[in-house]
Amino acid sequence: MEPEKARGIVLRTYPYSETSCIATVFTREFGKLRALAKGAWRPKNAFDSALDLLSACQVLVLRRSSGGLDLLTEATLERRFRVGRSLAGFYGGMYLADLLDALTADADPQPEMFDAVETALNVLAADPAAADAGPAATPAVPRPVVVLAAELAMLQAGGHGPAVGRCSGCGTRLDPAARAAFGMLDGGALCPDCRRGKTNVVAISTAGTAALRAAAALAVGRSGGALPTEERVLGELRAVMNTYVAHTLGRRLKSAQHLKALAKNEHL
Ligand SMILES: [Zn+2]
Repeated sequence: MEPEKARGIVLRTYPYSETSCIATVFTREFGKLRALAKGAWRPKNAFDSALDLLSACQVLVLRRSSGGLDLLTEATLERRFRVGRSLAGFYGGMYLADLLDALTADADPQPEMFDAVETALNVLAADPAAADAGPAATPAVPRPVVVLAAELAMLQAGGHGPAVGRCSGCGTRLDPAARAAFGMLDGGALCPDCRRGKTNVVAISTAGTAALRAAAALAVGRSGGALPTEERVLGELRAVMNTYVAHTLGRRLKSAQHLKALAKNEHL
């Protein structure tokens, strides 16, 4: 059998022996792989430091059909995720990797999820100090919104996207200028009729509702109004999404708690 080529993002690595590691790599072509990288931690190896956390890389992989570990034979770094000065960017990247891992099964390709995370990581890894170099280097979208849009795109691709513009119960179009009721167990926004008697419903402020719509539009590549920049609004949406994702997954992601820092101060 010949090794197959794929593009991947390194979601995590852990030691297998003194010189080898097991890497969870989410590939665009084959989905999530858990692969043994023999000798990856030797000084000279076939992996070119490509297996660092959140790196984008090209891999050659021998896939196992029996459910055992795949075997990475080679990896080439495409882009390293540089933490740079932005700890918040790193937290955002870690969270997206965690969410991608949690939302997907092994060997189930999800190219839309891959693209959403790859695009977001490129923005998150950009050094905010580079903004001094001129407007061209300035990320147009605040980091917390980059994370929010990528997570909405991933949830959407996995069939878990929350309703934002229409009621998730009856499909009625909701007033964009009103506070929205958001049902954690009901798939998102709810109209007053459908809200009645529901539990686990939170009210989102008018600004928060508009911001969530704008982020959801961004997630599908459209422009949907002004993106939020206020700490209060970003914090509100972060709390809503943390709870929504926890309900969707049936557990809280540990990395989600660090995102509060991302909402609070994106230049941490
Ligand atoms: Zn309704």
